Amino acid sequence: MRAGSPDFRLGSVLATSFTGTLSERHGNPVERIPTPGRLVDWLAVSGLAVDSCTTAQLDLARELRESIHAAATAAALQDALPASAVHVINDRSAAGRAAAILTPEGTRLWRLSSASRVEDALGVIAADAISIIAGERDGRLALCASPTCQAAFFDASQSRTRRWCDMNTCGNRQKKARFNANHRKTPGSAV
Ligand SMILES: [Zn+2]
Repeated sequence: MRAGSPDFRLGSVLATSFTGTLSERHGNPVERIPTPGRLVDWLAVSGLAVDSCTTAQLDLARELRESIHAAATAAALQDALPASAVHVINDRSAAGRAAAILTPEGTRLWRLSSASRVEDALGVIAADAISIIAGERDGRLALCASPTCQAAFFDASQSRTRRWCDMNTCGNRQKKARFNANHRKTPGSAV
């Protein structure tokens, strides 16, 4: 890992893990892919290794990320999907060349085109976003209950009652805030 860059928050859903590379959108935003090199790192840990990345390709990636965020947020709120976001997602999906590969162990891998371009990886991410926004997968899109986050996430829990995009960060912070608030309310308690 490169020093000085924020950690990645990896979830089990590719498209929303990708939108999570910008966190705290409604607070102090944390950009987790600040450089082309960090996008290369993120793609590698996400099973979409590419050979290289230019600043123009990083711009494409961020444009796709914010488009997925906008469309997934609208879907979670059952609003109309923003046309510009749909346009970007479709363009990126169409521009990628990648094949789904079944391993002998029965898992799926993505094989990018022989050039292993960023565009190929973005195509896989765009297609993943389409499958969750279109409701093709078992789960529901919801918004994180943290007021500074409000990230769209994919809730595949049995009860569909997940409240936070990430239990380790937003969920934990919210629990601590509630704990501290309760403590302050108790008269005479030393905090
Ligand atoms: Zn969150």
